[in-house]
Amino acid sequence: MNKTVLVVASHTDDEAMGCGGTIARHVAEGDTVHLLFMTDGVGSREIVADEATERFSAAQQAAEILGVKSSTNLSFPDNSMDAVPLLDIVKEVESKISEIKPEIIYTHHIGDLNIDHQVTHKAVMTACRPQPDFSVEAIYAFEVLSSTEWQTPGLMSFIPNVFIDITDHLATKIKASEAYSEEMRAIPHSRNVSHIELLAKHRGYCVGVHAAEAFTLVREIKK
Ligand SMILES: [Zn+2]
Repeated sequence: MNKTVLVVASHTDDEAMGCGGTIARHVAEGDTVHLLFMTDGVGSREIVADEATERFSAAQQAAEILGVKSSTNLSFPDNSMDAVPLLDIVKEVESKISEIKPEIIYTHHIGDLNIDHQVTHKAVMTACRPQPDFSVEAIYAFEVLSSTEWQTPGLMSFIPNVFIDITDHLATKIKASEAYSEEMRAIPHSRNVSHIELLAKHRGYCVGVHAAEAFTLVREIKK
């Protein structure tokens, strides 16, 4: 039976880097994928309207490339989601979950350096407190270059135990990542499209496929 999937990410571009290939694979297999973004990704500076518009249109382009059914942008403050009461964020996630009733959720790793990623993970876990007849069966945490690998060594390290083969969808992941050219940096900065491709190949070769995305299984409920 086809599944409904929700990706909860802090910033537009996290979805492409974290699980763009997996999104494309879900869509190719007939599943329905929805995106929920927490911030506009451009900070609280005053002259950001153009930048926000640009980033929004990059996100729309990426969403089209990935083939998602819907994309929702909330406007929590970029890089300071820890200043917002967690309950306010949880309510938004809960509302999206009750609207679309996803079986699978992908979100950030709790140990990322980026504070918004940490808060988003906590909001998802709070919104997904297990209860009878709850739709969510599985929660996976993805890695995002220039955040997951930048955390203090040994502090909540990302140790993947789920690898999703995206060999047939690597090109789509790359294309979606390229939509965010403004967010990418020049090599050898960690956040660039070549590194995204290298990481996908590395994660794939680790498990004997050409390309993969790596996740930690946060919770799975088998009924
Ligand atoms: Zn991010």
